[in-house]
Amino acid sequence: MSLKTKQKCRVRFAPSPTGPLHIGSARTALFNYLFAKKNQGEIFLRIDDTDKERSKAEYEKNIFDALNWLSFTFDEIFKQSNHLDIYTKQIEALLATGQVYISPNETGGERKEVIRFKNPNKEVTFNDLIRGQVTFNTTELGDFIVAKSITEPLYHLASVIDDQHMGITHIIRGEDHISNTPRQILLNQAIGGVDLTYAHIPLILNADRSKLSKRTGSLAVTEYQERGYLPEAMINFLALLGWSPQAGEHKTNQEIFTLTELINLFSINHIGKSGAIFNQDKLDWINREQIKKLPESDLLVKIKNNLPKEIQLLPQFSSQRLEKIIPTLIERISVLNDINNLLLSGEYNFFFTRPIVNKELLMDTQFLSETKNIIKKIKETDFTADNIKNSLWDFATVNSRQKVLWPLRVSLTGQKKSPDPFTVAAIIGKEETLTRIDQALALQ
Ligand code: GLU
Repeated sequence: MSLKTKQKCRVRFAPSPTGPLHIGSARTALFNYLFAKKNQGEIFLRIDDTDKERSKAEYEKNIFDALNWLSFTFDEIFKQSNHLDIYTKQIEALLATGQVYISPNETGGERKEVIRFKNPNKEVTFNDLIRGQVTFNTTELGDFIVAKSITEPLYHLASVIDDQHMGITHIIRGEDHISNTPRQILLNQAIGGVDLTYAHIPLILNADRSKLSKRTGSLAVTEYQERGYLPEAMINFLALLGWSPQAGEHKTNQEIFTLTELINLFSINHIGKSGAIFNQDKLDWINREQIKKLPESDLLVKIKNNLPKEIQLLPQFSSQRLEKIIPTLIERISVLNDINNLLLSGEYNFFFTRPIVNKELLMDTQFLSETKNIIKKIKETDFTADNIKNSLWDFATVNSRQKVLWPLRVSLTGQKKSPDPFTVAAIIGKEETLTRIDQALALQ
């Protein structure tokens, strides 16, 4: 009996630094990452910079920044521009066997020599893990160009050589590459490469099923970062674009996942064939849910680091109070940056400064003194929203909730609309609550 060692799976994410990393590429990176981690394999990052005119250092930096932000780590990172001698050797070998040949080429009236592939003109069939069996007749591709010179391979050839060189086993990439696959299979056969397994992920679409494009909004991952989305939310959202979680045989309704949970649940078999719709509202919802999952101390640091000076300068501002109002704020935002807009609107200023109370708004204050006395009796250490409510509830019910609670709310906040007065009182504390009631009583 022969001992068969299971081959370690190895994948690569191969962005071209010809633009910032966009949502679609980030999803490709994520699926490669999940696949590698799930199968205890390896993932390489390859920067496809053979196109000298269009590749830019700033885009390369943007790609690294975005991948870092998403917290992806790679077993090896390299650039194709550092592999030129490997390509040259391979092109020379292919020239020697006649599988590629030098031929004149005319572009824009200019005559140059290029290297073409001697197409064997055959049918190519491969088994795609998502699309099933795919067959192409390669005759119409003709003798396509594979390099501009022996030191300048084009994408298809450079990619095929690298995939073999790196020992790649699976190619997981966007469906827009499916028509490249037959060319790459032919080239791979020409260099005597090992067959690879392919998985082409369906495209990301707009709600009207058109192809997602820049026109419909921002696409660069770093723009979402700047707008205040959490990387955890972006990962969660991208994972659900085309893939759906299934725990064993059973579908789960869970939609909020950590990266570790995604790794455990991931399977290429659960990537759908049809396009995935990009839904901004869903991203916002996922972001809110992920914010709620952050440890409170992390959340406070994130919010405080970004907090406008105007808010911090309010006379009663303190971290403790800010921390207490966070749950109220979170319900009303999509991204953390929205918190600043909410705070700057002034709607929440009463938490950090004594309000100026309008006498007319207070209306009937006949029960306010008694309300104050009841509140005064609550011990400092028991001053929670629940306790304050319980202490006042019977009194309010007997005398009219409206007449008891309305002037209390206005005394504390100066506003018509606010969180309930018990919550506000608990947050500003007993002493300040009593002072604000006194201030309102003095208006009479
Ligand atoms: N550099 C190519 C791209 O960014 C890589 C495609 C592939 O995965 O082979 O589209």
